[in-house]
Amino acid sequence: MQLILFGPPGVGKGTQAQIISKELNIPHISTGDILREAFAEKTELGLKAQEIMQRGELVPDNIMIGIIKNVLVSPKCSGGSILDGYPRTVNQAESLLNLFDELKIKDFRLINIHANETDVIKRITNRRTCSNCNSVFNYDNIKNETKCPKCGAVNSFFQRKDDKEEVIKKRLEVYNNTTLPVLRFFEKYNVTLNVDGSGAIDDVTKEILEGLKVK
Ligand code: AMP
Repeated sequence: MQLILFGPPGVGKGTQAQIISKELNIPHISTGDILREAFAEKTELGLKAQEIMQRGELVPDNIMIGIIKNVLVSPKCSGGSILDGYPRTVNQAESLLNLFDELKIKDFRLINIHANETDVIKRITNRRTCSNCNSVFNYDNIKNETKCPKCGAVNSFFQRKDDKEEVIKKRLEVYNNTTLPVLRFFEKYNVTLNVDGSGAIDDVTKEILEGLKVK
């Protein structure tokens, strides 16, 4: 199954993508994680991307389109995948559909997770990431923990630089101006499943999995 997880930063795309990836046994492809890994490895791409990410802006389309092509043609994605954080521009969306055509991917769904902006800002500022397994947690749930509940790494929690309040405002502005039009672009394909992301994690997952069965 080929899925696209769509929604503003902090709405829970990463969390849901990880769960659904296990549930449906398809790889979770997060373009944000790919860029952060490139930075950790100090590649030219990673160093360039890091500066852009820290400003809350988008990495140029030509770079992102190349990255996603390499991933989707790889054997691990031959049975489908769940894209998290891609496409983020109409240009990326158009090229993704061309790539789907080339790879003979006919059935795909776009899961649009929505929530109001105040909730989203609160969630991002409270978000902590494990540097070992990339899992994300709410600070309130892990503030007394020294080990990551997912992978057991010790003292691995950190706050992403782009999760700080000054950068979040910019990321939301970019989302509203540049990424939201992607939703309109997909309207004509009748592939969108709208899901309320404001509820508990399990409820959101349930709504997604049930919604996917319907079509
Ligand atoms: P995320 O982890 O999905 O919130 O992404 C973190 C940052 O990585 C974004 O704010 C962008 O700077 C960059 N990024 C991730 N995916 C894309 C994309 N599809 N297009 C452009 N930039 C991206």
